[in-house]
Parts: sequence; structure tokens; C-alpha cells
Amino acid sequence: MKQLLLHHCCAPCSPSVVASFVKRFAVSSFWFNPNIQPAQEYTSRYESLKKFVGSQGLALSEGPAYSQDQWIAAATASPDRCTFCYRLRLTEAAKAAQANDMSFFSTTLLASPYQKHDLIRDIGNDIGAALGVAFVYEDFRAQFYQGKDIARTQGCYMQKYCGCLFSKEERGIK
Ligand code: SF4
Repeated sequence: MKQLLLHHCCAPCSPSVVASFVKRFAVSSFWFNPNIQPAQEYTSRYESLKKFVGSQGLALSEGPAYSQDQWIAAATASPDRCTFCYRLRLTEAAKAAQANDMSFFSTTLLASPYQKHDLIRDIGNDIGAALGVAFVYEDFRAQFYQGKDIARTQGCYMQKYCGCLFSKEERGIK
């Protein structure tokens, strides 16, 4: 079976994507989300994702150390925060796939109707072409709420904002 490295942004976006990909690929899970802030929020999403991935029998690896301060400095200096954020995470996912001799990578970000879907697809394709690892694109948004219900049933943590402190502030969350 072809091997695919799947970048997970969080547990609620994962069920529909995992259910689809495991039918076609040997899936390995990957976590790299230094955009999630503050530290308590990061831990809640990470622990929840670990639990979900474990329930699916998938192995989970992690990206390189990258501090939240580093992320904030780079995002602030970038002309487009979300472009930087997607590119950083998907680049590390593609590199991890490459390092593990996997020919394919993708991301659960493709499940969320709240993300910049077309931008994620374009960045994924760009990175894939540059690194020689195929980005597997699929629009999972129609199954998002179904997947979210599954995650909720499993007791997964349900976040209220995209991830960074900027997005938290934009949602008016204290
Ligand atoms: S809003 Fe979301 S995608 Fe955009 S920079 Fe913040 S965490 Fe990343």
C-alpha cells in the first residue's frame, strides 16, 4: 500500500480525513502546529489529537522544535500571516514524508470550512512539487460536521478559534 504522511491540525478535523485516507493509503500521523497558542491551548489540542490518533491505531510523529515566540516573530514579519502559517506546517510535513521515504502527504486542514481551503491546496501542491512528495488534495469540508460529532463523542477537545493569538483576539475570546 502507498504510504501517506498526514499532518493533523487538531482532533475535530481528523475523523473524516482519516476514514477516507486509510482506505487508500498506509497512513502515518504527524503533528507540527507551533501556531497554536497559548501553551495551555496547545497542550489541550495536542493531547486530544494524540488520544484520537491512538484510537485509530495510527503512529504519531512530531515536527522539529519551533517555539511560539519564533512563530509570532516570523508571522508578524510575514506579508500574509496565514500563508506563512500554512507554508511552515506543510513544509515540515513534506520534509517528514521525504525523510521517511513516503511519496505522499496531506493535511486535515482540508476538512475545515473555516480555513482558507484553496490557499492550503495551492501551497500543498507548491511544496509537493518543490520537494518531490505528492500532495494529496481532497475537499473534505462536506464531512466536517459529521467528523466533529465523532470527535465530540470520543471526548476530544473542541477549540473555539483557529490557533494563533491573533485569531483568538479576532474571535473576541479573552
Ligand atoms: S488564523 Fe489560523 S491559519 Fe491563520 S495564522 Fe492564525 S493559526 Fe495560522
